[in-house]
Amino acid sequence: NKKELLTIIVFGCSGDLAKKKIYPALFKLFCNKLFPKYLLIIGFARTSQSFESFFDNIIQEKEILSNSIFSEEEQEQENNKMNDTEECSHCIDVINRILYLSLPPHVFVNTLSNYKKNCFNTNGFEKIILEKPFGKDQDSFQILSKQILEHYNEESIYRIDHYLGKDMVSGLMKLKFSNMFLLSLMNRHFIKCIKVTLKETKGVYGRGQYFDPYGIIRDVMQNHMLQLLTLITMDYPTGLNDEAIQNEKIKILRCIPAIKLKDTIVDHYDESQRNHSYHDDPHIDKNSITPTFCTCILYINSINWYGVPIIFKTGKGLNRNICEIRIQFHNIMGSSDDNMYNNEFVIVLQPIELIYLKMLIKKPGSSEMEEKNLNLTLNEKNKNVNVAEAYETLLLECFKGCKKNFISKEELYESWRIFTPLLNELQEKQIKPLKYPFGSSGPTEVHSMKENVHRFINQYIYIC
Ligand code: NAP
Repeated sequence: NKKELLTIIVFGCSGDLAKKKIYPALFKLFCNKLFPKYLLIIGFARTSQSFESFFDNIIQEKEILSNSIFSEEEQEQENNKMNDTEECSHCIDVINRILYLSLPPHVFVNTLSNYKKNCFNTNGFEKIILEKPFGKDQDSFQILSKQILEHYNEESIYRIDHYLGKDMVSGLMKLKFSNMFLLSLMNRHFIKCIKVTLKETKGVYGRGQYFDPYGIIRDVMQNHMLQLLTLITMDYPTGLNDEAIQNEKIKILRCIPAIKLKDTIVDHYDESQRNHSYHDDPHIDKNSITPTFCTCILYINSINWYGVPIIFKTGKGLNRNICEIRIQFHNIMGSSDDNMYNNEFVIVLQPIELIYLKMLIKKPGSSEMEEKNLNLTLNEKNKNVNVAEAYETLLLECFKGCKKNFISKEELYESWRIFTPLLNELQEKQIKPLKYPFGSSGPTEVHSMKENVHRFINQYIYIC
């Protein structure tokens, strides 16, 4: 019957992420009584601001938040305040803390080392939530990781990829391993290719300062898209515990060779209309060659997936918002002849959640065949079901110590290994992105890539 206090400390409490995602998630978890009875939420930011203006910004969380100023000198004072508050919650036996670093990554290490020096808590657990980006390439990731691990061990680190907190994404593994037809057909003998697409209509105007040093490959491919691919292609884990699942994901990542420049197309949007050219953002250099669009081909050199091209396509400032995985089957003759029909299994994550299988079926009263979707309409049937938002799920899992939906350092090491040579080559050769009109379906050059994929599939079928 120990009395337990949970203290959540949000570093970077005045930021966009805190306002948009963290506070709403905390508020919902609090309202749904999913946190312990004794809960304290503390915020730190760099810039001093009044209590009132801070709360005006975040309205809903008024009752449960306090904020403060963030600097090394003031952390000790803050710690005293925090301890006072914690101790005056009568008869508390255990004080657990979650430190949410919603900060630019270059201040992660200082923040953790100052905190540890001045505020370290020995009376309960201490967990650290980190937000991407985790480095810019394999080397910088390893340096950052090593520095963080000097202060806290891997067990207490929770690295967020919010895609893993999405309800539909958490079901991908279950979907594959609970359905015989998927389980038995998901391999190179039946699958012609897999396409993972993540398109956004919004450009990066207003967030150029953050986006420009990173670009689209680091923004979504190296993390969200690769995570989706691992979940859909991994083998059945030896158990359903965190470690077994993460091991299986690492195994599939290790089978993916580094992506080649010849298998990649990079572009950025351009238009004469105001705010619609990539370089219109005041923080973006007029000569910046950062891509806002990329399509590339990956391969998985495993027994199950050898020879199956995986096509990643992503971009900002495009004609639609969509995130989907398309698993395309060989046609019945096992050839890549485009005139023959291919079944397709489609999982749509955004803007709505959908799962369907594209099939060919005879039209009633006719001898003709037509394409129909065998459709699992998820949303309509579950209209009134309360589905937790990604950040809600992840915060709760962190509190409970469940790590399967967080990124391990090994996964990150592998994902940077896959993309770093390409990123280096783009940089060293100063590859200029091609241009596509803002709001279009993307660059036309993508079609030439399709031909490469077809050539590869033909060659593969011949070898087999
Ligand atoms: P933001 O709006 O710029 O806020 C950053 C926060 O960090 C502010 O509270 C700021 O305090 C504080 N801060 C900035 N520089 C600091 C420094 N040198 N020392 C101490 N505090 C500092 O950024 P954000 O969008 O919330 O993003 C936070 C982190 O999450 C970033 O690493 C970002 O890459 C990551 N992330 C964000 C999103 C998103 O949707 N926004 C999505 C995924 C990942 P002041 O206000 O006092 O300057």
